[in-house]
Amino acid sequence: MSPIDFDTSQVLVGGVWRRAAGGRTLPLVNPSDGSALAQIARASAADVDAAVAAAQAALDGPWGALGATERGRLLLQMSTLVLAQADELARLEALDVGKPLKQGRADAVALARYLEFYGGAADKVMGQTIPFANGYTAFSLREPHGVTAHIVPWNYPMQIIGRSVGAALAMGNACVLKPAEEACLTALAFARIAQQAGLPAGALGVVPGLGEEAGAALAAHPGVRHISFTGSVAVGALIQAAAAKNAVPVTLELGGKSPQIVFADADLDAALPFLVNAGIQNAGQTCSAASRVLVERPVFDAVVARMAERYRALRIGPALSDPDVGPLISARQLELVQGYMALVRESGLHIAGEAALPAGLPALGCYVAPMLVADVNPAHRLAQEEIFGPVQAVIPFEGEAQALTIANGTPYGLVAGVWTRDGGRALRMARKLQCGQVFVNNYGAGGGIELPFGGVKHSGHGREKGFEALYGFSVLKTVAIKHD
Ligand code: NAD
Repeated sequence: MSPIDFDTSQVLVGGVWRRAAGGRTLPLVNPSDGSALAQIARASAADVDAAVAAAQAALDGPWGALGATERGRLLLQMSTLVLAQADELARLEALDVGKPLKQGRADAVALARYLEFYGGAADKVMGQTIPFANGYTAFSLREPHGVTAHIVPWNYPMQIIGRSVGAALAMGNACVLKPAEEACLTALAFARIAQQAGLPAGALGVVPGLGEEAGAALAAHPGVRHISFTGSVAVGALIQAAAAKNAVPVTLELGGKSPQIVFADADLDAALPFLVNAGIQNAGQTCSAASRVLVERPVFDAVVARMAERYRALRIGPALSDPDVGPLISARQLELVQGYMALVRESGLHIAGEAALPAGLPALGCYVAPMLVADVNPAHRLAQEEIFGPVQAVIPFEGEAQALTIANGTPYGLVAGVWTRDGGRALRMARKLQCGQVFVNNYGAGGGIELPFGGVKHSGHGREKGFEALYGFSVLKTVAIKHD
């Protein structure tokens, strides 16, 4: 019997679930054991055309006619339903992404919270009256872009849908969502919840399929007026090029090589759980993973020893057994991460701590043993490239200036953490770190859906999350009226 109780092989266009044009499908694989999980639709350019047209029709019809308060209420209703189904959503994510149950449940709760936040904010985004020449009244209006495209990756589908689709709907856009081909069950479940909540037909379309097919068709579609993309740097560049042809704005949320910086005066007991968790959460497949840990010389050995101890205690296993670390998403990702682990051994780097794979893991599951590597040269590939697996590089430094040089010395700039008891130093570091978010004496602030998020450099541009996202998902129109 299938572990999924709805038809996963369809696209959602104009409020109707149907087969993709030509009836093509793609297989989903359960990364915990390599078994066939489900078939999803393989949408083509024709399906994307239909979804964009249906979204435009929704804007010209019932969805566009709703007031901001009514839109907000719909989002709040969606939030309530998501929360009520959080356990089931976590189970789907465990099957599909290999995400441990507790982490999947946290993602579902975050999705509900995004919908709650943006539902509450929908009727609180205001324009301004503008002091202008005598005889005029001038003001600004915030309006939706129109049809917005949302191309999301497989690692945090629920959170990314919450922050982009949630904010876009709040502002009155109609969304076409392209989930990742590796994992799209919670995207489908979310769309069903939106329908249950009463979202008008066409306000949300879903076109699962291949990136180079459905994704590329959506990014290039002339009917799309804004693109929100979360994924790799290489595909981000393609998306921006496609958007340029139609002169539409894009938000690019790309990769990272984020540092946590531990000064010798830090509260190490407080820091320790964050240092390791931010590296191994979701098996390291997190854009904001703290894949580099910079430690000031006097406490370097102590921090490495304590991190290594935690590594040795990590429980690895199938996602439904709710381990600390589940499998990687796919055999392809496994091969990539194993390549970096081989590089560690070939380079003769110091493996300070390694978790052990337990006996009896399913042979076709995509498991790796998390690896802590110490004394890594900041210029080494391990300290420069996004690995997207549970491998952390620990790098020693001496003093603030060197910490900054190392921290800023990669092509990325997404997130940074600073651990210190010195308030002045915390502020100096926060100002000089080149990234989109800085956390002092914490890392991630528990998800912080209220906190604007995004990158600089190769980590992308534009901001999602928080109130700021509502500006990104709307257009400012200025009106100047001449009168006596
Ligand atoms: P990816 O770029 O391969 O795929 C992301 C999405 O883009 C998928 O839906 C895919 O189907 C689609 N896509 C692929 N090729 C396309 C094309 N030519 N045109 C249009 N769409 C296309 O990324 P991935 O490997 O699935 O995800 C991992 C990457 O995402 C990592 O680099 C990670 O850091 C990044 N990421 C960033 C954030 C963030 O918020 N900054 C969050 C999660 C993941």
